[in-house]
Amino acid sequence: MTDREHWNPDLETAPTDALRRIEAAKLVRQIAYTAAHSLFYRAKWAAAGVHPETIRGLDDLTRLPFTEKREFQDSQQANPPFGANQTAPLDALVRMQATGGTTGRPLRMGMTRADIAVYNEIGARAAWCNGLRPGDVLFECMNYSLYAGGVSDHMTFETVGACVAPVGIGQSKRLIEILKDMRIPVALWSTPSYALHLADVAREDGVDPRTLGIRKGFFSGDAGLAVPGYRARVEDALGLVARDMWGMGELGAPAAECRHVNGLHWLGQALVIAEFIDPEGGSPIPMVDGATGELVFTTIEREAHPLIRFRSHDRVTLWTSPCPCGRQGFRFRVLGRSDDMFIVKGINVFPLGVQDVIAQFAPDLSGEFQIVLDQTPPITRDPVIRVEAGPDLPAEQFSDVARRLAGRIREALVFTPEISIRPSGSMPRTERKAKRLYRAYLGERPN
Ligand SMILES: [Zn+2]
Repeated sequence: MTDREHWNPDLETAPTDALRRIEAAKLVRQIAYTAAHSLFYRAKWAAAGVHPETIRGLDDLTRLPFTEKREFQDSQQANPPFGANQTAPLDALVRMQATGGTTGRPLRMGMTRADIAVYNEIGARAAWCNGLRPGDVLFECMNYSLYAGGVSDHMTFETVGACVAPVGIGQSKRLIEILKDMRIPVALWSTPSYALHLADVAREDGVDPRTLGIRKGFFSGDAGLAVPGYRARVEDALGLVARDMWGMGELGAPAAECRHVNGLHWLGQALVIAEFIDPEGGSPIPMVDGATGELVFTTIEREAHPLIRFRSHDRVTLWTSPCPCGRQGFRFRVLGRSDDMFIVKGINVFPLGVQDVIAQFAPDLSGEFQIVLDQTPPITRDPVIRVEAGPDLPAEQFSDVARRLAGRIREALVFTPEISIRPSGSMPRTERKAKRLYRAYLGERPN
């Protein structure tokens, strides 16, 4: 069993037409099931004038309207506890998880046993692709309280066959004590910013973080690992190899890097259909090397809370050229959440792009930063970016580094920021997703 990739079945390398037949059959079944059980979709499709029985194959999917998370949230307010998209009876549900945190109220989602099995399989494919194997002891340092990535990710790692320790967050000192006694190479599952936080806590305790034995690092949560400088910083801080995994609470983790680290492999084959669209107009975009757009997801094996054309609002660039690992399907890199995008004098800016430039200034800058927008859009003034100095940057050089950073951002991202350099160690290290963008005009203030 240990060497068999049983969650990377033939489907993942199947000829495209065979996979399309399977996905089409499952889609037709999912739509019929959803039409029969979901008042939410029934009303939505009726309003759009689409009869669900006319959805007979993959090409018909685009005739259905998109679904936004906000619609589920509104539906839950009106129809508690799970909203009108509650498609399985309460006594069939065995788990409830909440998603969200970046926008609006958390979305409550019920899961049946079969839904959990699918969720586990998707995540297990991703973890395997990342390099997790039976025999690995994995310390999970994600938030377990309600957040979908806690218990659900834990169960997917157990599905791989790894030995998973539920650490949670806020336990760094206890974790360091345990790691000191383990004496074997171990694995970590956390946000990249948590890994840096853990290294800081270890150093404060007089422990070299590289001696903790964490050699495999699996990360999700911040898009930051996609930034080369940031990845190297995380790897260097703990002496590990870092791999990125991507997911959404509503969906699981259907994408991950393989050892060739050339983008996130799509791994949802035959369980979720991914479409690629133009985020503005909503029209399909051909999946070709270098294309940029938004991924939209449809579950095709979901008993409770089906997602039909669910918009991710993540902007990605994708590739379809072959990867040496042999996995088929597309690969992608996340450019940023459309929600996080802001427009300065007509230029689209993603915090990840800013992070990319700031990372080039290591070790003069620590890599921590906060973008503060104090003007209600349209933004016509230069936004303020607060960046943190590295430990060895003398204060008299702050203004020079600020000037050079502003110039580099102007070259790379075509907008001019006002740079404010803060002393080393003055910015909060978070164990959760690092917050980079503060809309001060909405009352969001960095501390
Ligand atoms: Zn690969």
